[in-house]
Amino acid sequence: MKIVSVETFLVPPRWLFCRIGTDEGLVGWGEPVVEGRAEVVRAAVDVLAEYLLGEDPLRIEQHWQVLTKGGFYRGGPVLSSAVAGVDQALWDIAGQAYDAPVHALLGGAVRDRVRVYAWVGGDSAGEVTDAVTAHVEAGMTAVKMNASGVLSPVPTRAELAGIVARVAAARDALGDDRDVAVDLHGRATFAAARQILPALAPLQPLLVEEPLLPEHSARLAELVACSTVPVATGERLYHRSDFLPALTAGVSIVQPDLSHAGGISEVRRIASLAETHGALLAPHCPLGPIALAASLHVALATPNFLIQEQSMGIHYNVGADLLDYLVDPAPLTITDGYIGRLSGPGLGVSVDEAAVRRADRSGHAWRNPVWRHADGSFAEW
Ligand SMILES: [Mg+2]
Repeated sequence: MKIVSVETFLVPPRWLFCRIGTDEGLVGWGEPVVEGRAEVVRAAVDVLAEYLLGEDPLRIEQHWQVLTKGGFYRGGPVLSSAVAGVDQALWDIAGQAYDAPVHALLGGAVRDRVRVYAWVGGDSAGEVTDAVTAHVEAGMTAVKMNASGVLSPVPTRAELAGIVARVAAARDALGDDRDVAVDLHGRATFAAARQILPALAPLQPLLVEEPLLPEHSARLAELVACSTVPVATGERLYHRSDFLPALTAGVSIVQPDLSHAGGISEVRRIASLAETHGALLAPHCPLGPIALAASLHVALATPNFLIQEQSMGIHYNVGADLLDYLVDPAPLTITDGYIGRLSGPGLGVSVDEAAVRRADRSGHAWRNPVWRHADGSFAEW
């Protein structure tokens, strides 16, 4: 079998899909994207395609090695995401070629279903309560929230109290048998994070995500030590060598993104590295149906998996949502806060190619918002 085509599709709301075709008619799909830089990753995939055309798609690891290292310069979000989407598509083809779901090729499922969480917004505690209550009524067992907007470098007493009040509102609506995760999104300085984590500890969050920016990870160990809150990070790390210092610093949970951190192949290795540190895997995935399916296969086959992000109905998904690009949305249906074991060959989701080609004709130009502090200076989003 040989690869005969590598195409990319810029589809709303903010995604990039990759279709790899073979001379035997098998087709694999992946999601190579950096949110807000989709066109740049598309160009990177075009360059990788020069090598892939004519190659045997089943030699996934061989291609992963060449694609990540063969250009001499390596790593970073753009190249790692381009390889990630290609890797997903190759696993999709392999599963179809061997007539097995990807999780079976990874050693078989170690669980029957995958716990997922939902995202909640809300500037006031009342809005948080309403949003969380809706998810609880829909059967979700966990939610994630930002808890803060623009955060001052040294937060005011009111900012700190506001964060605690919003998480407390979520905790009240969830009760003690469900979980709230807090995503600080790299908005906190060390000074802020060191106050926020102990303040949240009595509410027992499932995790606090990106309490520091990746570039401040030299202080991660000090932060981990300042409270009992499980610290999570990883959506902006791209390779197992990026995760090693975070694990050594004592993070409890790693959050590689299947579309950023080298795909299924590399996230499996990151999960194993985490396992040697007693840490858990909770893949980042605010992306489309292919990235979610890839995440679910890793979740199904990984013993130290904790919980999976998914973005159905999230506020980013304006004009299109995850299930709009599938022929059959059933495999990604959430029941009682879980997605069932995927059973179809490959990634186990059937992409609606006509819908994807149609969406690509209008494309998108999604960009991250740029936030400012009161004095006009740049603020982390
Ligand atoms: Mg995050």
